[in-house]
Amino acid sequence: MSEELLINISPMESRVAVLDNGVLGEIYIERHNKLGLVGNIYLGTVVRVLPGMQAAFVDIGQSRTAFLHVNDMQREPRPVAEKKNKAQDSINNERTIIDAATDELAITPPVVSAQSTEVVPVAKTLIQHRLHESQRILVQVTKDQLGSKGARLTTNISLPSRYLVYLPSSEHIGISQRIDGDEERTRLKTELSSLMQTVNLKGGLIARTAAERVPVDKLEEDIYYLLQLWRTICARRQEMKPNQSSELIYQELSLPLRSIRDLVHADTEKVIIDNAQIYEQVRYFAKEFVPFVYDRIVHYNAEQSLFDVHRVEDDLRDALKRRVDLKSGGYLIIDQTEAMTTIDVNTGSFVGARSLEDTVYKTNLEATHAIARQLRLRNLGGIIILDFIDMLEQQHKDDILESLQAQLTQDYAKTKITQVSELGLVEMTRKRTRESLGQQLCEPCSTCQGRGFVKTAETVCFEIFREIMRCARTYNSPKKFTVVAHAAVIDLLLTSESDTVADLEYLLGRVITFDVENLYTQEQYDIVLD
Ligand SMILES: [Zn+2]
Repeated sequence: MSEELLINISPMESRVAVLDNGVLGEIYIERHNKLGLVGNIYLGTVVRVLPGMQAAFVDIGQSRTAFLHVNDMQREPRPVAEKKNKAQDSINNERTIIDAATDELAITPPVVSAQSTEVVPVAKTLIQHRLHESQRILVQVTKDQLGSKGARLTTNISLPSRYLVYLPSSEHIGISQRIDGDEERTRLKTELSSLMQTVNLKGGLIARTAAERVPVDKLEEDIYYLLQLWRTICARRQEMKPNQSSELIYQELSLPLRSIRDLVHADTEKVIIDNAQIYEQVRYFAKEFVPFVYDRIVHYNAEQSLFDVHRVEDDLRDALKRRVDLKSGGYLIIDQTEAMTTIDVNTGSFVGARSLEDTVYKTNLEATHAIARQLRLRNLGGIIILDFIDMLEQQHKDDILESLQAQLTQDYAKTKITQVSELGLVEMTRKRTRESLGQQLCEPCSTCQGRGFVKTAETVCFEIFREIMRCARTYNSPKKFTVVAHAAVIDLLLTSESDTVADLEYLLGRVITFDVENLYTQEQYDIVLD
């Protein structure tokens, strides 16, 4: 399968589209106003130590000083100044740098934890014995600053890659609990520990859920990336000048760089970027960390928008609709609620009885492809119920299930068909990763309050009649009523409902007049009394 990555940059957002054989498969969107500091690593300076709270305020160059609690510093990095010479001498020596970075941890043994029987002097666990004012310290942000509260920090650095998380201050190799099967867990543990030895990377690793069944050469690429990254961080922390109080050492990657880290692989033929500055950034990043893709990165600066040229804009618009048309004439209806997603398969037009089973079979078969694509594109997660069109032949039923299964194996997210109910409903789950496309881009419709339907103009007319009668009873002799409403409602009042209006005027002895309000939705109206 050939893959292309399209990266579209605008002042307000970055969007990354993954094309499989020219067709939009996945879309990632990052709105720039929602970016935070979480994941960033700073070399900060301790401003105050608060023994009473067992915490410290650390200057990381933000408007508020950040907060570090003793529980978030299980292990104590040695102050940078003491290490300076050793580390500087060895910037180009991978082995020594990694050693330097991890043997800092040996200065203070870890605090007693559940797995450790090591006894640590109590004094070492108190913050006032571990930190002092004006001390420099390497910290990572775990929570953004909010209002008057500063950001929350940890000294337990973690660096994510596509399949792994590197923990410089740990010694364990952990496997995501979502990875099933003892055999696979053991394989990952064995392979990761031998890879770490090969490249001489010290510290701990976590295999993320995405690592399941990933071949060893891919894991090796990841370890290599983490090694390069950690080397860069170790080198950069030495660069801070004595008069500086804080420095951003590592920034959680922006979407364009993350997509190079997480989405690019051997089958990626091209990465096309429509912004010169980001193009340069991505090239620089790729050269350093993902060298095999470097020559496949292209800058696009033609007049027509990149997403229009590749039909991404159209596909994106369609990916928000309930209905997905199939080539065979059938269609899917996709409904997402908080609890689950249901996908209903329908045949298009009436088909003769003789070819019915055949048409249904073909439609269902096509639907399995469309469903798998839509799950990825819309990033639907959680429980998913598929309602295929009823089929008579058992062989057909088996084929459909088999085809669905085959399509789902292409999905990067973990999927599982849990059961086929007596009514023929296929129940499946898909691992929730981020918000679905709909949740990210849409909100409940304010016209229908999320019901998906609006009252008909006739229903609204009848509401208006009841409201006029209520007003006539409640208020003392208004001279006239004016109905202000949507054009469709007023049209109806002046045509098919005009008899009722006349009856009402006679009954109440009042005149009723009408005004169209273009800003009103079909359900909105006002009754004005004169
Ligand atoms: Zn609506």
